[in-house]
Amino acid sequence: MSDAALDLLQRIFGHRQFRGEQAQIVAQVAGGGDALVLMPTGGGKSLCYQLPALLREGCGIVVSPLIALMQDQVEGLRQLGVRAAYLNSTLDAGQASDVERALLAGELDLLYVAPERLLTPRFLSLLDRAQIALFAIDEAHCVSQWGHDFRKEYRELTVLHERWPQVPRIALTATADAPTREEIAERLTLEPARTFVSSFDRPNIRYTIVHKDNGVRQLQDFLAAHRGDSGIVYAFSRKRVDSIAEQLREAGVDALPYHAGMDSAARAANQRRFLQEDGVVMVATIAFGMGIDKPDVRFVAHVDLPKSIEGYYQETGRAGRDGEAAHAWLCYGLGDTVNLRQLINQSQAGEERKRLELRKLDALLGYCESTACRRQSLLGWFGEPHAGACGNCDNCLDPPQTWDGTQAARKALSCVYRTGQRFGAAHVIDVLRGVPGDRATQLGHDTLSTWGIGADLDERQWRSVFRQLVAHGLLEADEHGALRLTAASGAVLRGEQPLHFRVDPPKAARRSRRDRD
Ligand code: ADP
Ligand code: ZN
Repeated sequence: MSDAALDLLQRIFGHRQFRGEQAQIVAQVAGGGDALVLMPTGGGKSLCYQLPALLREGCGIVVSPLIALMQDQVEGLRQLGVRAAYLNSTLDAGQASDVERALLAGELDLLYVAPERLLTPRFLSLLDRAQIALFAIDEAHCVSQWGHDFRKEYRELTVLHERWPQVPRIALTATADAPTREEIAERLTLEPARTFVSSFDRPNIRYTIVHKDNGVRQLQDFLAAHRGDSGIVYAFSRKRVDSIAEQLREAGVDALPYHAGMDSAARAANQRRFLQEDGVVMVATIAFGMGIDKPDVRFVAHVDLPKSIEGYYQETGRAGRDGEAAHAWLCYGLGDTVNLRQLINQSQAGEERKRLELRKLDALLGYCESTACRRQSLLGWFGEPHAGACGNCDNCLDPPQTWDGTQAARKALSCVYRTGQRFGAAHVIDVLRGVPGDRATQLGHDTLSTWGIGADLDERQWRSVFRQLVAHGLLEADEHGALRLTAASGAVLRGEQPLHFRVDPPKAARRSRRDRD
């Protein structure tokens, strides 16, 4: 069996040997077993079902939610001489019935199909009459509510197992922390399946996180060190995308916008330019990227905070798929967390879902403010141990200075309390520093015991303190930016818990020189 697999790998796909756990996965599925495969983007997931489909009798049915990706895969396979086809909404009735005829005639090795099409009674009964080699469920995290891309049709894919219990199933995903993983196995009734987890480390990606003063200017400094490189800039909203793309173009960067609010022709044209030309910078919302396979993306820059660590990992993972050095750069400030909270709270999602998303946001904030090796923290989130000291993240290359912030934290928290937990950081900082103004006078805040007790730090230092207090879960910013104490604040207020803060690097563009080496 393994000789046949290796032979096909070399003859059809032109690869000399299997990579990572591919050989074991192929053997498992070709032998009729189920598998759950977790492999980072670019790891080589497709082969894990393509080869077993060729090794087994019949046609491999691939469930994929992404039409663009389906077409790319099928085109690529056909060039290799594999008999592949897809069924989705882009085909007219005639084309679709040609594909169905080929399937029934045993003339297909692989058939890609969107989940909603697969689940139609018509297609299911078609499958009853066909010989099926295996079912591959791509982007399997879509079955999980905990994951970031839930699709309800994925929940109904259990029908595959119920209707064709003998047919092996392989579920694949590039994003799955432990809870998502469990949910995939459970929802797809894959419990007895073997799980194959590849390392999620992307050693060629350098991780850097900076604090926002003026995001767009900081982005321009960053881009100056990446002139001529292809890259992606992720921003929070469509409006931000449009405005940043325009500012970058004015500054001479070959930047293009991409978001779901653009008309589809313009969007497709921009995507095509990004894929085909060198040195295009795509400024985008997260609508851009799923299934984009461009190997030489040299950087992914987040000019606003992403929504979760999984999202951040997924988005930054689009850099450096060719294995060459690449840079993941993130710029964030307290305002970002306020915006994201607003977005979450105003969404249509249920209360439980909202709480979950807020927790994920908190975890990401903790990651941003951590002084530990970024790679270690990131992989730890996915349950993968790493010794740390990777030598290729900001915290390893330039270990952050810390200072004893116990007293400052106490002052900050008590000032939030005294002013009634109704104000944003800017006002509380004014009170701490005793900055005279009408507002303070009107509110009577200049008579509080905390008035002026923080004159020893400047505004920028206080902002850093507040940002880190939020990141450590010692303060909570509501969707209007008002700061409130949390259950954890008490111990700090009473002086029972010492606190160390990281020292923010000075404003100067020290970063951009580093980017080059
Ligand atoms: P994923 O779906 O996990 O993102 P792909 O299946 O698209 O990854 O594979 C990523 C790239 O790696 C492709 O260009 C593919 O040809 C290449 N690849 C996959 N397996 C091997 C292998 N065994 N040897 C060399 N290259 C491989
Ligand atoms: Zn590191």
